[in-house]
Amino acid sequence: MRTKIVAGNWKMHKNAEETEDLLNELINALPDDKEARIIVAPTFVNLASAVDHLEFTNIGVAAQNMHQAESGAYTGEISADMLKSIGVGIVILGHSERRAYFHETDALLASKVDTALKHNLEVIFCFGEELKDRQSGNHFNIVENQLQDSLFHLEQGAWENIILAYEPVWAIGTGETASPEQAQEMHHFIRETINRKYGNIAQDVSILYGGSVKPENAKEIFSKPDVDGGLIGGAALKAVDFAAIVEGI
Ligand code: PGA
Repeated sequence: MRTKIVAGNWKMHKNAEETEDLLNELINALPDDKEARIIVAPTFVNLASAVDHLEFTNIGVAAQNMHQAESGAYTGEISADMLKSIGVGIVILGHSERRAYFHETDALLASKVDTALKHNLEVIFCFGEELKDRQSGNHFNIVENQLQDSLFHLEQGAWENIILAYEPVWAIGTGETASPEQAQEMHHFIRETINRKYGNIAQDVSILYGGSVKPENAKEIFSKPDVDGGLIGGAALKAVDFAAIVEGI
């Protein structure tokens, strides 16, 4: 059985005090009868306090990005070792905002994935097509290429530490969600693609859906057989909404 996961990507929101407040609200609001991993991803500067704050809870902490180099003259960057050294065990890589605004390519992401895994970080790897790809019917090809170019160099064993997050770019922060059927269709395709390359381990890989997941649509999306949870942006910033989404898992 693969793990169900609901992760909140806080992006560039919440200062130190607001981070503490939201974490406290989450601790109170989240249901405790769900067989799902819960993960939050505050900004870099609030990661250490979040790790401390959540020490005795079952809420995991992820970083939103990291640099591919071990260390060096990369002003403003954060390494895998730095994340590990403050108790962060998970990193989100390949988010569409990183790809679009910071020019992260599939090849760069392959090397970030390698560095993260080398440091025993779990990776939440984001990918997904743009609107023009879906309109031209090219979405399956795009997604297959993203997987191939960033992840298919990995050895089979490395997949234990990979969580996938399919996030169609046209659904992120737009209020427009993929329908549960569109999500299922793509998640099934992703699992089949991994199966063709790696065989049965495809059944064990958690594939999250991301893109305008809200309390109103979470349950139906999560009910699909190949959807193993969600990566939540906007709705992760309010404890009541995030908790309601977790209720849907
Ligand atoms: P959204 O963001 O839920 O606000 O659409 C999802 C994401 O960017 O991971």
